[in-house]
Amino acid sequence: MNAKLYHIAQIAQIISSTLPTYMHGDRPIRWIGYDSRKIGDAGATIFFALQGRRDGHGYIAEAYKKGVRHFVVSETDDYQRQFPNANFLPVDDTLKALQALAAYHRASFSYPVLAITGSNGKTVVKEWLYELLSPDFRIVRSPKSFNSQLGVALSLWEMDDTANLAIIEAGISQSGEMMALQQMIKPTIGILTNIGHAHDAGFASVEQKAQEKLLLFAGVEKLIYSPEYLHGQQLSSIGKTYTWGEQGKEGLYVHEQRQTDARHTVLMALYQGNHLQLIAPFTDAASLENVICCWMTMLALGYDHEIIAKRIRALSSIGMRLELKTGLNNCSIIDDSYSNDISSLEIALDFLSQQQQHKSKVLLLSDLPVQGMDETPIYQRVAELVNRHKLSMFIGIGERISHHRDLFKGKAAYYPSTSAFLESGLSFQQTTILLKGARAFSFEKISKRLSLQMHDTILEINLNALENNLNQYRAMLPFGVKLMVMVKAFSYGSGSFEIANILQFNKVDYLTVAYADEGIALRRAGIDLPIMVMNPGIQNLEMLLQHELEPEIYSLSELQALAEVIAGMENPSGAFAVHLKLDTGMHRLGFMEDELDDLLHFLNVSPAIRVKSVFSHLVASGDAREDDFTRQQIAFFERMAAQIKEKLPYYILMHIANTSAISRFPEASFDMVRLGIGLYGVSADEGNDLPLATVATLKTKITQIKQIKAGETIGYNRHGKLKGDGSGRTATVKIGYADGYNRRLGNGMGQMVVNGAEVPTVGDICMDMCMLDITAVPGVQEGDEVIVMGEKPHVNELAKAIGTIPYEILTGISPRVKRVYYYE
Ligand SMILES: *Cc1c(COP(=O)(O)O)cnc(C)c1O
Repeated sequence: MNAKLYHIAQIAQIISSTLPTYMHGDRPIRWIGYDSRKIGDAGATIFFALQGRRDGHGYIAEAYKKGVRHFVVSETDDYQRQFPNANFLPVDDTLKALQALAAYHRASFSYPVLAITGSNGKTVVKEWLYELLSPDFRIVRSPKSFNSQLGVALSLWEMDDTANLAIIEAGISQSGEMMALQQMIKPTIGILTNIGHAHDAGFASVEQKAQEKLLLFAGVEKLIYSPEYLHGQQLSSIGKTYTWGEQGKEGLYVHEQRQTDARHTVLMALYQGNHLQLIAPFTDAASLENVICCWMTMLALGYDHEIIAKRIRALSSIGMRLELKTGLNNCSIIDDSYSNDISSLEIALDFLSQQQQHKSKVLLLSDLPVQGMDETPIYQRVAELVNRHKLSMFIGIGERISHHRDLFKGKAAYYPSTSAFLESGLSFQQTTILLKGARAFSFEKISKRLSLQMHDTILEINLNALENNLNQYRAMLPFGVKLMVMVKAFSYGSGSFEIANILQFNKVDYLTVAYADEGIALRRAGIDLPIMVMNPGIQNLEMLLQHELEPEIYSLSELQALAEVIAGMENPSGAFAVHLKLDTGMHRLGFMEDELDDLLHFLNVSPAIRVKSVFSHLVASGDAREDDFTRQQIAFFERMAAQIKEKLPYYILMHIANTSAISRFPEASFDMVRLGIGLYGVSADEGNDLPLATVATLKTKITQIKQIKAGETIGYNRHGKLKGDGSGRTATVKIGYADGYNRRLGNGMGQMVVNGAEVPTVGDICMDMCMLDITAVPGVQEGDEVIVMGEKPHVNELAKAIGTIPYEILTGISPRVKRVYYYE
């Protein structure tokens, strides 16, 4: 075992806590736990009860149940008595304690630590450097974009003595944060990617932001940066500096960038009086800047230009993200084959265990990149991780992993190479398959073989963004208020079980669908959260009850039908949960006030039906001009609900707030709120400045580019004309009204983004295609990607352009547009 192990008494000392009382068989500590859902080898874990958006102290019981016996806590409670035979180490601040442990751990290694910060490009530069330096170094690096106060501590904890270089990403969002990161990382080499001019909320000015970021580099031996990004700040107590960029002509001065074809750019530079040149396999400005930063870093590390050019030429922009796609034979494919190392494997396995849609789960894992070091301990760690995730089958691909086959428990198969696996013809049904392969193994071939054919028009769903939005709203809820999430209409167009899995993992309290079949689909996909069905339909009630779905009851006749179904059931099991809908002004579905007497009478004589909640719906909670009416609705709801609660002898939840009301009417939170569109990153009320993240991006591709002569027209009915004399260039893209791109967005009403520029539609939208005016944008090629909707153009803009609401646009995206889910 090359990992450093700690005794609990030693940790207590490092974090300045009291000495532990319970030694737990003296088993040393290997893992840090902070999320009770992600605990593996509990006996070797120490759990830090962190106080983030949710208080980790609330999850101690769950972690204890899983077998954790060491806890770091900041609240004094009666833990010792509640949880016998466990250690509770008290500290003032649990995050600081974790950081102290990470700093101690880092200080026990003498190999260089390279730290990267900047506004953009940190993760890309980190991953590329990993790839560029891997042939010569054994590198431990931050997983994904773990760069926060917590993420950096966890990244440093990955350091062990099998490595000889660490690459750590550091990110800050407000002033005062960098000092803590610097003290943990104590970098030997620093890299500044860039500092944007954008004014961030957490800083007083760009200068202050730059000053704060530069704190990371105190005491580094080497610093790689572009003078442009210092924003006038001075560097102090820094060793040798290596600059790049166009301002200063010392350092690496790139004086020409010439795009040679659709994918490549030649970069020409001057460095210490020599002319250097290389080909980068990218054309966009951001990638090229990141390439230059990596180039300077390699020069600073003493690499020969020949080697640098060769390795940069081979870089690739394969997404660094983990993608969930639909596979053949009803499988789900989790594709994470950008890299293969232990920390990203751990994250991918956690995601695999969130997936409930299939009982069967398979991991395909290639050899790990292990350069010339003792590989056995590394495979031991991998096997330890894989074994505790209880897979249906493990498939090892490669000579080395096959050699270590004895380490892996359970059903397994081994193949010497990717092609040997493909030739075997092995196939899967109803299985979730995780693909985790090192680049050299080309697992994209396996992904292609197992996935449904991909289309050029796709809706990408960013799961990090979805979780961010969930947490934004969660943070607004008064203490103890439950959260119901609306996943009706295919989760506002974004997906079914894919979204529900994430919500279940994030422990929301309730889900709501519109129809019974949507609820049944979620049950079949392994979702066991309570689910309310808003429009159950009398003919489906029996199915509904069998699947433990909870109907909304809005009329006496519906209630009577339900009672009859229950009476006709052979073994009704206990009472059936229902939710009463009250009409407080929407006048769509729901009981009116004068119907309550009959309703209550019926309920009082029907013990098999139990009211879980009473609720109503606000008609204009996002519209400030209707606030009086909204308050009236809330008051009316309280009055009606009180009548019901008074007559029924058990506790009943009350809820009325939708997304806009969560932010605008916190006094109407009652026992639960119903989050809808906000989860998907869209705020329906004006003037709301919540930092919501864009969840859905609709993308397509250019099929053909045309040169149009003066006076010609474009598309059906001759409606399309280019500006001026009508000459210019058009691009035909693969999206039309049958995909949900509204026909009213034609003739310049809609915009799309091509090569970073917004361009208008031209002519009528066709069924499967439409045309764009790209006259003003240079360098566009057939096959280029086009953003139809996302960060820009935002769904709100599209909705406004055609006089509708974002809900209609989102739910209108056709099912034929494939959804791809990803984590960054
Ligand atoms: C759709 C719906 C919601 C959610 O509305 P948003 O505006 O998307 O937050 C809440 N309650 C009911 C009854 C709904 O039908």
